[in-house]
Amino acid sequence: MLEIDWTESEGWTRPKISEIRNFSMHPATKVLHYAIELFEGMKAYRGYDNVIRLFRPDKNMERMKTTALRSNLPDFDGEELIECIKKLIAIDSDWVPKPNPSSCSQSSTLYIRPTMIGTDPHLGVSKSTSAKLFVIAGPVGPYYKTGFKPISLLADPQFVRATIGGTGGYKMGCNYAPTIYIQNLANKKHNCQQVLWLYGKDEQMTEVGTMNIFMMWTNEKGVRELVTPPLSQGIILPGVTRLSLLELAKQWGEFNVSERIITMKDLVNGLKDNRVEEVFGAGTACIVSPVDRVLYQNKWLEVPTMEVENPTYGRLLKNLTDIQFGKAKSPWMIEV
Ligand code: PMP
Repeated sequence: MLEIDWTESEGWTRPKISEIRNFSMHPATKVLHYAIELFEGMKAYRGYDNVIRLFRPDKNMERMKTTALRSNLPDFDGEELIECIKKLIAIDSDWVPKPNPSSCSQSSTLYIRPTMIGTDPHLGVSKSTSAKLFVIAGPVGPYYKTGFKPISLLADPQFVRATIGGTGGYKMGCNYAPTIYIQNLANKKHNCQQVLWLYGKDEQMTEVGTMNIFMMWTNEKGVRELVTPPLSQGIILPGVTRLSLLELAKQWGEFNVSERIITMKDLVNGLKDNRVEEVFGAGTACIVSPVDRVLYQNKWLEVPTMEVENPTYGRLLKNLTDIQFGKAKSPWMIEV
């Protein structure tokens, strides 16, 4: 693990890489009470050429820095942290799995979890004047070992993940803790795999579990488009996968690519008129996750994602994993 400590008076200490170990902390430590915490999720990929690479780590650093600011945790040099993470991965390189020769999307990777916590041992609800930044990593298996498994979603407007003026656009632990109860409810009570987070009176579709949401459809004006909700309201996490899929789809130039609000009404009407082709989630863990059913107002909406021939989500997955595993050269990949 990598560890770097910070105090308001002394700044950052020298980074240290050591064997993974337990922390010892005072029971009043701020992170334990007020969740002064943030994290990132990224991966190291071993390419077909045996070179280990990080995928757009600068984007994770950018998001981590904005979250640090909002959490009153200290700012840091993102480029320096990438150098420290590279060093950690180089030491742990045996843990970065080899790619599956038959398919990039069926390959294992090394998941990397940068984290920062407020470490002041005082109960006052105030800014932490000391912090610890640490990074741990561990291998994760392929998401699609046996082909695509579509997911079902619970869309219930009584549950909200984030609100305008809140912290949904930041990757801090306190955004996630309250969602686990709803996720369990979706699983156990409604037999749904993930929650489709809705927002506002117009029931905007915002995110799918811990993924950004995409819809491939022909919009109400008759234009075929790939659409995902905008970041401007601050209720959606700015996903690195989201950004990358938008950029790839724009490069293809085959259909409109839009960032705008999409509502349950859009989905319901679009399905009724056979205008919806695909709905999928997008995130670091799975890259894309196709959706085949949505439970809404006690009825199942059937989404034809899995029936589409040569679906967009599959093409995006291939395009992106070819880049991540070094099959296609890209400035997005940073050698360790
Ligand atoms: N939304 C939420 C709420 C998430 O937790 C994540 C995972 N970080 C994402 C979207 C996807 O982001 P990324 O593509 O950077 O993994």
